[in-house]
Amino acid sequence: MKSCGVSLTTAAVAFGDEAKKMAAGKASREGEEEPLSLTVEEREALGDMDSRLFGFVRLHEDGARTKTLLGKAVRCYESLILKAEGKVESDFFCQLGHFNLLLEDYSKALSAYQRYYSLQADYWKNAAFLYGLGLVYFYYNAFHWAIKAFQDVLYVDPSFCRAKEIHLRLGLMFKVNTDYKSSLKHFQLALIDCNPCTLSSAEIQFHIAHLYETQRKYHSAKEAYEQLLQTENLPAQVKATVLQQLGWMHHNMDLVGDKATKESYAIPYLQKSLEADPNSGQSWYFLGRCYSSIGKVQDAFVSYRQSIDKSEASADTWCSIGVLYQQQNQPMDALQAYICAVQLDHGHAAAWMDLGTLYESCNQPQDAIKCYLNAARSKRCSNTSTLAARIKFLQAQLCNLPQSSLQNKTKLLPSIEEAWSLPIPAELTSRQGAMNTAQQNGSDNWNGGQSLSHHPVQQVYSLCLTPQKLQHLEQLRANRDNLNPAQKHQLEQLESQFVLMQQMRHKEVAQGLHKSQSSCLSGPNEEQPLFSTGSAQYHQATSTGIKKSNEHLTLPSNSVPQGDADSHLSSHTATSGGQQGIMFTKESKPSKNRSLVPETSRHTGDPSNGCADVKGLSNHVHQLIADAVSSPNHGDSPNLLIADNPQLSALLIGKANGNVGTGTCDKVNNIHPAVHTKTDHSVASSPSSAISTATPSPKSTEQRSINSVTSLNSPHSGLHTVNGEGLGNSQSSTKVDLPLVSHRSTSQIIPSMSVSICPSSTEVLKACRNPGKNGLSNSCILLDKCPPPRPPTSPYPPLPKDKLNPPTPSIYLENKRDAFFPPLHQFCTNPKNPVTVIRGLAGALKLDLGLFSTKTLVEANNEHIVEVRTQLLQPADENWDPTGTKKIWRCESNRSHTTIAKYAQYQASSFQESLREENEKRTQHKDHSDNESTSSENSGRRRKGPFKTIKFGTNIDLSDNKKWKLQLHELTKLPAFARVVSAGNLLSHVGHTILGMNTVQLYMKVPGSRTPGHQENNNFCSVNINIGPGDCEWFVVPEDYWGVLNDFCEKNNLNFLMSSWWPNLEDLYEANVPVYRFIQRPGDLVWINAGTVHWVQAVGWCNNIAWNVGPLTACQYKLAVERYEWNKLKSVKSPVPMVHLSWNMARNIKVSDPKLFEMIKYCLLKILKQCQTLREALVAAGKEVIWHGRTNDEPAHYCSICEVEVFNLLFVTNESNTQKTYIVHCQDCARKTSRSLENFVVLEQYKIEDLIQVYDQFTLVSD
Ligand SMILES: [Zn+2]
Repeated sequence: MKSCGVSLTTAAVAFGDEAKKMAAGKASREGEEEPLSLTVEEREALGDMDSRLFGFVRLHEDGARTKTLLGKAVRCYESLILKAEGKVESDFFCQLGHFNLLLEDYSKALSAYQRYYSLQADYWKNAAFLYGLGLVYFYYNAFHWAIKAFQDVLYVDPSFCRAKEIHLRLGLMFKVNTDYKSSLKHFQLALIDCNPCTLSSAEIQFHIAHLYETQRKYHSAKEAYEQLLQTENLPAQVKATVLQQLGWMHHNMDLVGDKATKESYAIPYLQKSLEADPNSGQSWYFLGRCYSSIGKVQDAFVSYRQSIDKSEASADTWCSIGVLYQQQNQPMDALQAYICAVQLDHGHAAAWMDLGTLYESCNQPQDAIKCYLNAARSKRCSNTSTLAARIKFLQAQLCNLPQSSLQNKTKLLPSIEEAWSLPIPAELTSRQGAMNTAQQNGSDNWNGGQSLSHHPVQQVYSLCLTPQKLQHLEQLRANRDNLNPAQKHQLEQLESQFVLMQQMRHKEVAQGLHKSQSSCLSGPNEEQPLFSTGSAQYHQATSTGIKKSNEHLTLPSNSVPQGDADSHLSSHTATSGGQQGIMFTKESKPSKNRSLVPETSRHTGDPSNGCADVKGLSNHVHQLIADAVSSPNHGDSPNLLIADNPQLSALLIGKANGNVGTGTCDKVNNIHPAVHTKTDHSVASSPSSAISTATPSPKSTEQRSINSVTSLNSPHSGLHTVNGEGLGNSQSSTKVDLPLVSHRSTSQIIPSMSVSICPSSTEVLKACRNPGKNGLSNSCILLDKCPPPRPPTSPYPPLPKDKLNPPTPSIYLENKRDAFFPPLHQFCTNPKNPVTVIRGLAGALKLDLGLFSTKTLVEANNEHIVEVRTQLLQPADENWDPTGTKKIWRCESNRSHTTIAKYAQYQASSFQESLREENEKRTQHKDHSDNESTSSENSGRRRKGPFKTIKFGTNIDLSDNKKWKLQLHELTKLPAFARVVSAGNLLSHVGHTILGMNTVQLYMKVPGSRTPGHQENNNFCSVNINIGPGDCEWFVVPEDYWGVLNDFCEKNNLNFLMSSWWPNLEDLYEANVPVYRFIQRPGDLVWINAGTVHWVQAVGWCNNIAWNVGPLTACQYKLAVERYEWNKLKSVKSPVPMVHLSWNMARNIKVSDPKLFEMIKYCLLKILKQCQTLREALVAAGKEVIWHGRTNDEPAHYCSICEVEVFNLLFVTNESNTQKTYIVHCQDCARKTSRSLENFVVLEQYKIEDLIQVYDQFTLVSD
């Protein structure tokens, strides 16, 4: 952004004078030595410095001078701001933020940016600011907000010079957030960009390969890793890491066959990795695991010892050593190794489990129970129920034994209490000493010298709340309403301290997340110890108890461990965290007098040590490459942090879940608009937020409540409305204002209708040609940048709870005349009816639904392709994780393909099977009807599952008019507004096929088949007819609540647009989101209005047909354009090319609705301006624009890299132009691969004069 740079230079100049004056005054008054002023040269140098330099100023090498200058500038600015009592231009704060950012003083950068944000209403125009803000958020691992800031940068300035850095960081953050599709897209966008960024392309490629691995796409990962190894001059560190990953992958995964073969691949990879980096304790550890798995005990020991010598001793390594000893029948040594493991990491579930098994094998069940209890308490224990069963079993056993038999027995091993206090062998203590030192220094060996930023220790110190303070805080919070001013002040202080402390946790959590991934792969015990205790089931518990989920710190957006497909499932369990890591305090009552707490704190350090650990974080992405592959050997700092402070733990767990944690967090950090809009409707804490959270018109909510009650009967027809509004009175539906513009922050995309936006095209183009001249017309101001779109906030005031289950607008049709009665169309498209069920439509129109029955489909095209989604058969309206332990939003399903014939077979056999099961149940029920205890026990069980898998045949393409002639012809019997093709359907004006939108799709279902939550592509309306024979159940949420659902998705680490999610109805109820719920019977047509969110499940066996429709209304057009922009912000392709469509509309459609007309006209004008500006810029730069024209039915074009729509000027690679394959790029992507476009030709599809003519001839018609 040039403008920003200019204004800041000006600011700096102005400031220089000010500062001189001020400094002079100060010097004369106080006789101070150093005048605080900047020389002209310094000001010039500073004028060029902003966030874009981040990562590119070598502060630590030749940049020492720069650092001094920046430091001086910061002091100057600060003193001036102080002097002016903060009343300086907002740009000062922005610049100060930049300087602090470049000095890596993140907290000061954040507060300066915060001030700028609150002062500058159009802060969003300042890309350098947004970028700096994103970097600061990234540093604090506040990924949710960093993502928003970065996406805003790309939206307001797609050609931003650090776009590559942004894509890289977005890729990393989405990877951590388990949004792998988005992650891959951004990594690829970073990779094609030839500009510099802070990672080499080898490193980016590594991340892509690792992304595949994370998704368990091992073959793709292996391929990508191996390809990377072919790279010339591959940096040693990258090479070592790649080889390490390859080795570990071969050891862990079923890539190559049996165990011996696996290790024969894995071991050489790890050895080569150690050649490239001999100091990697991680590789040594992995190597040890490989040797151990093939029984090379001696080699394994040697490797483990090496690993420890490389100062990466960790609980995992010790745990593995324990396993090895146990295998060698050396229980005492095993015991000591396990004790080392759990002393290093109190929450190490696997080590506790192993220790428990060890005790069991030595016939010491009491000790075993204690260990299992500790394991169960760990957050990382994923199989608590199995463990609980085992504990119960042992306890029962103990009860049955005479007390004496236990006491008299000579113990093979010391009790756990004794073991805990045994002197630890020297080799271990020295190692642990080193560990403690490492923690205190906050250094991370793996990263070597790469971590650059260190907060001063004392700053961190002050952020730690003592237990007493926390208790005090709790008391104050509890009495919030009855505090005197002093207490209130105290509360505020404590809360902000608490929030800061939480932010540090936040950082750690996110850092820990990277670790959790690899720890899933590399848990010490997944190759099962061979000793004989415990059941197979129990071993399974051991093997899964190794996940390091850090979610107990409960931060909203990124608390889900990545990597393991199951991990998102386990991570949400809010098990009894908090005590984890605290041992023996209650159960065991150590027989000796000494307390064990000192032992504990020896490893965890006091809170200040734990906090000190935080400071080692750096904002350099190198950190992430390390973390991404880092080992379980990394200290698990979040656990260490809270391990010895139960009150703190409890507070974190208890409160962070509720509103206190996140709420106060926002309070401190809510400098991003999205945060405001999300958290608070009524309080506007900054001028700009007041704009973005403008309260909705009271009218819209009133109308909503009326909506569900009103029942209109049309006097002159057999139509019978049950719920809903607008039918039978066409006036009522046109009179009502669309509640579109008033209450949504996205409304700026299309400006308010009161402003005239229809100047003649020549005026606009004239203005475009002379951009520097004064007196620009209004239109050009209007055509200035749009703020990034935002999801709407939850409608205010919230609906009362008894309005959250509104009746569904339904219409009963009796005959054909009813179906063609015009108000029916108006009823359906009335924005106040999010959904309409038209009952009995097939009957009224005498539609032959049999044409879509499975039997007929098989007869017609049995080999036709069916996309299959393999899903879990879920109970009722709920969505549980695969283990059935908790309800979740995520509902991923595997995709595959089959044919109609094969799916038909499946559908039929599923039906028969269910009949058989039904019969069996009936007989069973007869047999056990008197045994009530069994059934009540079953129903009382909280745990669900395991779930049956089912197959859903989806997205079957019926577009081929030859193959599906009869079927498609039958659908022409529908009234025009619901037809696949009609003059009043915007999608018929696109001019080409958009599969599934302006063509018919078929769905073949068995009970439980689920279509996850979504809005239709570009918010178009949809038509869905149930063919039967079974029913479908629908869940529908009005369009204006999509922002709330988007928030829920983000909270659950889901991508609202791309992921599969099934809303938890309890969550929606809590958030006052109304849900329409109804059954769609065979022959019923469901009309989903523009933007309505919905999800569907099959109740019985049935087929459905569906397609999209775009009614010619202002509401539809507006929502489509808004989604088009939102998609752009989110880097998601818009299936409807709205630019192309808008021009077609101007050519083909007569518009009489002034609102719709103005919106279209505005969009055309904007595009016209863009085309003109771009064309002139190209010509001015000497780039030839080659006339290409277009054929009549030529589809709209999309950029082959970033998938935005490309209109008129197509950037085509020279090569593909010669070959006439025409691979299209947008300008920005073209420039990323070829800065001066030398590899591209620019093809022009429309003459500007023609576009001008279309624009001018498009006028409002009166009806
Ligand atoms: Zn592009």
